[in-house]
Amino acid sequence: MSKKIHGFYDSVLESFDKAAVHTGLPKGLLEQIKLCNAVYRINFPVKIGNKIEVVEAYRVQHSNHRNPTKGGIRYSSHVNQEEVMALATLMTYKCAIVDVPFGGAKGGVKINPWKYSEDELERITRRYTVELIKKNFIGPGRDVPAPDYGTGSREMAWILDTYQTFANGELDSAGCVTGKPVNQNGIRGRTEATGRGVYYGIKEFFEHKDLVSAIGLEPGIAGKTMVIQGLGNVGSYTGSISQHEGDVKVISVSEREGAIYKEDGIDIEKLLKVRKSTGSILNYPGAKKLKTREEALELKCDILVPAALENQIHVGNAKNIKAKVIAEAANGPVTSRAEKILLKKGVVILPDMYLNAGGVTVSYFEWLKNLSHMRFGRMEKRFDHNTYLNLVGITERLTGKSVNDKEKAFLTRGADEIDLVRSGLEETMISSFQQIKEVYKRKRKITDLRTAAFVTAINKISNDYNSLGVFP
Ligand code: NAD
Repeated sequence: MSKKIHGFYDSVLESFDKAAVHTGLPKGLLEQIKLCNAVYRINFPVKIGNKIEVVEAYRVQHSNHRNPTKGGIRYSSHVNQEEVMALATLMTYKCAIVDVPFGGAKGGVKINPWKYSEDELERITRRYTVELIKKNFIGPGRDVPAPDYGTGSREMAWILDTYQTFANGELDSAGCVTGKPVNQNGIRGRTEATGRGVYYGIKEFFEHKDLVSAIGLEPGIAGKTMVIQGLGNVGSYTGSISQHEGDVKVISVSEREGAIYKEDGIDIEKLLKVRKSTGSILNYPGAKKLKTREEALELKCDILVPAALENQIHVGNAKNIKAKVIAEAANGPVTSRAEKILLKKGVVILPDMYLNAGGVTVSYFEWLKNLSHMRFGRMEKRFDHNTYLNLVGITERLTGKSVNDKEKAFLTRGADEIDLVRSGLEETMISSFQQIKEVYKRKRKITDLRTAAFVTAINKISNDYNSLGVFP
């Protein structure tokens, strides 16, 4: 008999069980918080060229303790039921950690998105959306997808358009999906949100002297070295924002085509341009090409950012990892077995369900914007500007001194949508980290941040169940 491979979903369940013992909650309630509520598996035909291709796809709703459910849609040839179940499960805990009032869900379409033309991808996306509509697996109050690996705002626009074709004038239909282009009911700051959230999360960790000195580093993110796996949406924004706002030095980047290393730093925006124009990161001037892309994961650095797919750090390479901090930008990049090895070595893991929750946080803002039918900041921007202008005027009059035009413009600016989104995201990442740390410090038997994050999430969800009185 063949031995079952210990996969991503097993890792998530194992981490859940490890945390559940610290909650003291009854077994039945823990089962309900752990298991997936609904799994929808579809096979649908799409015309590709002059052939029919049958596409395998999923939508999993992990928990309806809060509605709608929420989670991205992944396009990848590795998609399978257990992967989507694992991702949907993480979404529930992620939403709880950042106080976003949704249950978790996830979608997956088993295709290699880089193999299809734009037209073909559009046909696949629209047909998948129709399948979700048919079974009530999409809707602003029901289940709200978003981008994930292999999808972006373009796919979300197709989903919105398809949904609205069937929505028959439903007032809030724009809230059926998030991560849409800004000019199609999206929100400013959504595209960068996950990477920006990753940056805020890492930055917050480095503010905590007790945690940072335990791994032999100085507090503060500035000057820390970073290695990034995957230069897609999450990896590229994490890198460029960490560079520009945190003064971090990115010394290595890996992509499907290979990995590069440059001791004095790689400029991420320049690297993106090089990849776009030449098709490969390996053409970045002055960088050393590593023998394999996996080698990048084992480089000496302060912060390793896996931002591609799950199971990248496993029992086979965990012992070779030299990073002090693993910042899980991707979902499930470290297997539960690798984690045991890493924790023994003293590596800090900033867990996915907290660290990459910036995407769902800003998706929540987008959904609220769609339901309110109004841009954030529209009501107060001018009022705030006038109030600050008056304050500056009074100060000038009372002191007899005046500020110059540049200073005045800076002091009197009312907040735009992007300012509010970023400030809401930063606040969320800081306060969520503090909640997790509080559990970590309070419960002496909890020795890692992932377990503390799970306990934080499970307790919040259990409170929701209790206040809803859902059990007859
Ligand atoms: P993406 O498709 O934009 O980018 C992923 C990149 O990783 C691609 O450029 C791909 O070529 C690269 N890649 C794949 N295998 C690789 C390997 N072995 N080595 C190096 N590079 C490799 O996807 P994304 O949206 O950035 O998602 C990345 C991860 O972040 C996924 O785990 C996803 O679930 C998670 N995530 C994404 C979001 C979001 O808002 N997009 C939110 C939360 C979590």
